[in-house]
Amino acid sequence: MSAAKTSSTVPEQPDLSPAHALPASELLDRHQSSAEGLSQAEATKRFKQHGANALPEPPQPGMVQRFFKHFHDTLIYILLAAAAITALLGHWLDTWVILAVVLINATIGFVQEGKAEKALAGIRKMLSLHATVKRDGNWQQLDADQLVVGDIVRLRSGDKVPADMRLLDTNNLRIEESALTGESVPTEKHTQAVATDAGVGDRFCMAFSGTLVAAGRGTAVVTATGANTEIGRINAMLSSVQAIATPLTRQMAQFSKWLSVVIVALALLMLLIGHLLHDFATGELFLAAIGFAVAAIPEGLPAILTITLALGVQKMAQRNAITRRLNAVETLGSITVICSDKTGTLTRNEMTASQVVTQAGNYQVSGLGYQPEGAFALDGEAVTALKQPSLAALIEVVAVANDSQLIQQDEHWGVQGEPTEGALLCLAEKAGFERESYQRLAVIPFESENKFMASLEQHPDGSQHILLKGAPDRLLERCDQQLNTDGESEPLDSGYWQQQLESLSSQGLRVLAAARKPANHSELGMDNLTGMQFIGLIGIIDPPRPEAIEAIARCHQAGIRVKMITGDHAGTAEAIGKAMALAGDGELVVVTGAEIEAASEEALQELAIRGNVFARTSPEHKLRLVKALQASGEVVAMTGDGVNDAPALKRADVGIAMGIKGTEATKEAADIVLADDNFSTIAKAVEEGRTIYDNLRKAILFILPTNGAQGLVMLVAVLFGLTLPLTPVQILWVNMVVAVTLALALAFEPAEPGVMKRPPRDPKAAILSGMFLWRISLVSLMIGGVSILMFLWAMAAEVDLSTARTLAVNTLVMAQAFYLINSRYLAECSLKFSLLFANKMAWLAMGVLLVLQLAFVYLPFMQQLFGTSALPLSYWLLPIGLGLAIMLIIELEKKWLWR
Ligand code: ATP
Repeated sequence: MSAAKTSSTVPEQPDLSPAHALPASELLDRHQSSAEGLSQAEATKRFKQHGANALPEPPQPGMVQRFFKHFHDTLIYILLAAAAITALLGHWLDTWVILAVVLINATIGFVQEGKAEKALAGIRKMLSLHATVKRDGNWQQLDADQLVVGDIVRLRSGDKVPADMRLLDTNNLRIEESALTGESVPTEKHTQAVATDAGVGDRFCMAFSGTLVAAGRGTAVVTATGANTEIGRINAMLSSVQAIATPLTRQMAQFSKWLSVVIVALALLMLLIGHLLHDFATGELFLAAIGFAVAAIPEGLPAILTITLALGVQKMAQRNAITRRLNAVETLGSITVICSDKTGTLTRNEMTASQVVTQAGNYQVSGLGYQPEGAFALDGEAVTALKQPSLAALIEVVAVANDSQLIQQDEHWGVQGEPTEGALLCLAEKAGFERESYQRLAVIPFESENKFMASLEQHPDGSQHILLKGAPDRLLERCDQQLNTDGESEPLDSGYWQQQLESLSSQGLRVLAAARKPANHSELGMDNLTGMQFIGLIGIIDPPRPEAIEAIARCHQAGIRVKMITGDHAGTAEAIGKAMALAGDGELVVVTGAEIEAASEEALQELAIRGNVFARTSPEHKLRLVKALQASGEVVAMTGDGVNDAPALKRADVGIAMGIKGTEATKEAADIVLADDNFSTIAKAVEEGRTIYDNLRKAILFILPTNGAQGLVMLVAVLFGLTLPLTPVQILWVNMVVAVTLALALAFEPAEPGVMKRPPRDPKAAILSGMFLWRISLVSLMIGGVSILMFLWAMAAEVDLSTARTLAVNTLVMAQAFYLINSRYLAECSLKFSLLFANKMAWLAMGVLLVLQLAFVYLPFMQQLFGTSALPLSYWLLPIGLGLAIMLIIELEKKWLWR
């Protein structure tokens, strides 16, 4: 993205009246634009001259500041204090090593956090804003940062206004301007100029960048972009950068703080005991206490958790689930119910009109997809569509009261606009109908609440008609006539249409109806839509996505129920619900919007749990359903695309917005955005979320025993007055190599085989559960124990102290390396061949660890630094044998206790 220029996008002439005080036509002249928009060439020129429509990036904290942030940590303070004490005691080597560790730790944290932030920034970019712009006379979708002053832009409900603009045309347009004015009630907009001194909130003929279109439509000419917009001026949109944290990592940070207090207290206790019980020299006692503190502090843990989280979120984005709020990563693992849209999420949203029913009978239409090639047959006999009066009338309605276009790209046909409308247009094209000569006088756009679209059109012969297309039940209410086979009007036969509607929808077809009525007025309101003439029904195929069917089955295995919430007819929804196996045979329960409407809060709770399919719903029903499910203790994920879905998404435990057909308003309210609108991506996100959480837990379960074991070694040594088996610098070495090699490998751990076969996690369960504490204690005891034993054994064999200590370090490190194998799977047996090699990083990490450990033992420079000695081969075999034994014991423990 090119950098935003802060210079004005229009030559700013302060003596000119502001945009809101001018008639629209004058403003168009001023910006050398017209209702047809700019030419692409002119737009490119303006873009080059004035730069992208983007706000300047918020100032980032400097490198130095970000680096030093990593020193601001209780654990690090303790290490720094340890460095100071060793310096005072004259143990300079220890001082330097401790400082080096602190530095290395901060550097790792700094680099990894940089990477994590880059990953998140990349993910945020995937959510860039789009705008519908007229260039060279054609509407097209552009990245909003491409907008220039003078561009003509179309706004619809749910859009985020992409720049400041003067409205040219509005239809019930209401804009929520709280980002700018703090006022959350949407403002009604119109096109008349307002007073020069009107405040931002009173400029009713303007739409401002960053505000949300709550309802209606409009077109507007861009008057300011980037930093020149109102929001750019007040710099309000500097979206706050969120910390890379989730409840779990925050809880762990809290835990680390608490732990460090305990550690310091224990270290002081050690000083006291060592002093009172044994005749340790003061210097050595201090070293032991410092060694203990250093041993027990899990320095590497916060960095590992951050990396695990960032890697996981990045992986989710690669699988098309873009995380907007990191908390969602964890919540995903607790979800018990997913409420999903139907159209486009469970189905493909590739619509084809395959049947038409009029009073003349049932027409079949051939052809699939949007390619306008196919033929009509009436009861098996080929017919010329436009020669059939009722069929021709129906085609006229659905093609003219239609805002979409069919477009051909190379060999492929697609829709610009709504797929449902695309299917209807394709039907009209197959019949050879031309809609160009109609003139639109007024329109009531489609809204999910109404479930229809009406337009007032002037026919080429000069006559005027209201054309109405939409959900059959909504249209039937507004009709008292119908069109018969010969194209004459007759009284409506509701029974016939109901029967046909049932028959079409039971085949899983989406059914639309068409109606019309002559008119002689220039405005169009809801009141005009009565006493209409019903023409017929169209059945549209929208095949289920096969991968969604599979994903639903996986969700069921994972203890997650899937509910379909759709605006479609109950019959259609039921047929699709069956095809998707939302419930077992004969168990599918369909609830309609009307039933939701009528239900009391208690009754709704029961309905919400029992129902698998919710049909003919409106967006506000989604909110009621989420609340009802939550009241029964469910953890709910809810999908949405329309502007009115935002409250339900906000209320849900995980709000999921559609990336393609979703409005900006929904995306803003969502925790996760699906880049491909596909249900199977939700199932993948759940799996990924569970995996990330598992990996965080594994990191904790792996790292803490390292600290536990070392702390134990030091504690026991002081308590029993032994020579210290480990020196502080050796302890730091163990902490560092274990954290940067072994623990890091866990961040790359793929999903466990059973991850989607176990029930959702109880969100209230503590992370450091009894099982966790037991495992941490057990492993600490075993690893700490064998390290002390090896040390004592070596001392008894009368080798020199540095050899005995080297052996103790080797034992610790080897045992940890074997314990990594256990830690890779929480409950699953780690020793299965297929699982053993699932994560190459784990083996790479062990390889690196071995090289480092060899250097530690044999390089003279390292020997000097860490006080180690070269070991004979047998001194490697023993630790390996013990490590292996511990690994086997933990596998047995898993089998008995963790299953
Ligand atoms: P979901 O995406 O939540 O599964 P949906 O997309 O099926 O639901 P809506 O888009 O609210 O639900 O559509 C509801 C009904 O409105 C449809 O069954 C259809 O009869 C009618 N309808 C849909 N699109 C249009 C349109 N462009 N013009 C007129 N009527 C429409």
